[in-house]
Amino acid sequence: MSSGVNILDGKAIAEEVHAETQRRVEALEVHGIRPGLAVVLVGDNPASRIYVENKHRTASRLGFFSRKIELPADCPKEQLHEILNALNSDSAIHGILVQSPLPSHLDEEEVVAAISPEKDVDGFHPVNVAKLALGHSDGFVPCTPLGILRLLQHIRFPVPGSHAVVVGRSRIVGKPMALLLLQRGPLGNATVTVAHSQTRNLAAITRQADLLIAAIGQPNFLGSEHVREGAVVIDVGINRIADASAPRGYRLVGDVRFEEVAPICRAITPVPGGVGPMTIAMLLQNTVLAAERAVGLGRS
Ligand code: NDP
Repeated sequence: MSSGVNILDGKAIAEEVHAETQRRVEALEVHGIRPGLAVVLVGDNPASRIYVENKHRTASRLGFFSRKIELPADCPKEQLHEILNALNSDSAIHGILVQSPLPSHLDEEEVVAAISPEKDVDGFHPVNVAKLALGHSDGFVPCTPLGILRLLQHIRFPVPGSHAVVVGRSRIVGKPMALLLLQRGPLGNATVTVAHSQTRNLAAITRQADLLIAAIGQPNFLGSEHVREGAVVIDVGINRIADASAPRGYRLVGDVRFEEVAPICRAITPVPGGVGPMTIAMLLQNTVLAAERAVGLGRS
């Protein structure tokens, strides 16, 4: 808490999700099942390496079988597809993800489509995208938007009837976020506006938001002029900016000017420590769900 502002502690809320996931992992043990997650990293993008390591470490901590597969940046497409085929038919693996971004010779959409939809715990496969769009609950929902819903649930934000403005329309954050908020149900039924780089008068639109979700990838882009007093602000952005005083020579900032916006909003996520930890938590929740479904226990 700071000057009456509710800072949404993603780390702490993610730990609550982890505790639930761990209970589900233990319940699966009774059936002789250990949820298995395979994370594939192609190339040596330093940020991707950190994400993959975090996922691997957290999965192991919660009792998952976790496999990390590292491939060189020039890995031929055929080799990656062979590996994905093998993982698709490996009964010890319930969830598969390929860390993006991929080197330019690999087509992300083709790679995602090669993962079995039942193991696509990132929720990016066309089958899962269609299920989300159609409102079917037996697919997988992308982890970042799912984590954001969990944060909203935590603060009992009344989503139904609210005006949600999502800035960004990517397939991993903006679009699925908008679809989720549009769905019927207690965490949906919002009136949703989606803005992007071609939107005119952005501030006039974002100022109408009860819930403002920034997923732009532009450091410190949104300020107090974009935010209505009392709004809930979710900052998805993770941007590196140079900082000679930081041990690594850079620090992470969001898409929102936190110091400026925090005093006027009802709640805000910090960067780091807001949406990021929730994304990993929901990935593991999706993986345990995949394992439950594999033995016919799956809730949808
Ligand atoms: P993309 O680059 O795929 O999409 C960015 C979106 O923002 C696009 O739709 C783009 O519009 C829009 N945009 C860019 N500039 C502007 C602008 N000036 N005004 C309005 N809209 C703009 O990014 P991602 O969705 O993959 O990621 C967004 C951010 O979230 C990044 O910083 C990323 O690192 C972070 N991220 C964080 C995660 C987490 O766990 N916390 C998970 C995933 C991403 P257009 O479509 O017109 O180009």
